[in-house]
Amino acid sequence: MVSCTITQLELPVKKRLEISEAPAEVEDLPPEDAKQPLIWLNIFGLSVLHILAFYALITRASEAKLWTWIFSSLYGTIAGYGVTAGAHRLWAHRSYSAKLPLRIFLAYLYCMAGQTHLYKWIRDHRTHHRFTETPADPHDASRGFFFSHVGWLMMKRHPAVIRNGKKVDMSDIKADPVIRFFDKYYEPIMVSLCFILPTLIPVYCWNETWFISIHSVIVRYVWLLNATFLVNSFAHMWGNRPYNRKVKPTENPTVAFFTLGEGWHNYHHSFPWDYKAAELGAYGLNPTTAFIEAMSWIGLAYDLKTPSKELVEKLTLSKGDGTSSLWGQKHHNQNHHPHER
Ligand SMILES: [Zn+2]
Ligand SMILES: [Zn+2]
Repeated sequence: MVSCTITQLELPVKKRLEISEAPAEVEDLPPEDAKQPLIWLNIFGLSVLHILAFYALITRASEAKLWTWIFSSLYGTIAGYGVTAGAHRLWAHRSYSAKLPLRIFLAYLYCMAGQTHLYKWIRDHRTHHRFTETPADPHDASRGFFFSHVGWLMMKRHPAVIRNGKKVDMSDIKADPVIRFFDKYYEPIMVSLCFILPTLIPVYCWNETWFISIHSVIVRYVWLLNATFLVNSFAHMWGNRPYNRKVKPTENPTVAFFTLGEGWHNYHHSFPWDYKAAELGAYGLNPTTAFIEAMSWIGLAYDLKTPSKELVEKLTLSKGDGTSSLWGQKHHNQNHHPHER
């Protein structure tokens, strides 16, 4: 049995800093053909959800009460922070540390989004970073848009993902009592927070119809799923690469807009341990950074990690494609940039 105290959990920070103060390296693996049988239940489930969401949006959206729109948008956004500030930046990357109340709060928000057990989400994401665009990457973007967006959830995992996923160190996650609790009771907590509660609230608080309320939940759920998927597909294909032109992940402001700041993906794959997941602290396109800084201000988040300006500049000059991060224009002074890819 794993035993730990909160203090022990928050201690290994120094060690992590030592190993993490460098741009991330990806382990390269040779191509490997393998059969990945389709998971028909997932294909059916995802298809039905998308059909219902589109049907409701196109034909019945105007029937929804204003409060239902406001509530669904807020609920989806708040749940999004559970994914971005919680599962992603806190747990998967340990880019900052959080005190117990914040960890519990983020785990609640994460369950509102309904995106599988925290342990699985985090293991997949760590595997993605360590083996980016190799057969061991769960949503390998070199297999095309559809596979990296949603197709990877419709088939059994590639054997390389299973084999190499086991190499990823998950000891800190196994030791976190918050994750253990929420994963143990994941199904009832997730179904209540992601589906039941947001269906009941509009019906009982402002007399929304059951039909609209149920469909507003489906639309919100599908919306948030696709926002998360965008990072794996769009932000691995379209955009500029100011930090490392030799990898696929890109800087994509559109994805950043829809994902609370997770679209600065060329930077993020270079410095996954930066709590900003971007070089710039521009809150407009990175509200997750604002959230983490607000939590730090009230003392619930601490040890926010970020690389020195010099380290970022060194990488930009040696590996970048000569563009600037935010809108992708070429730098005026490009003499020092080799542009071949
Ligand atoms: Zn990625
Ligand atoms: Zn990441």
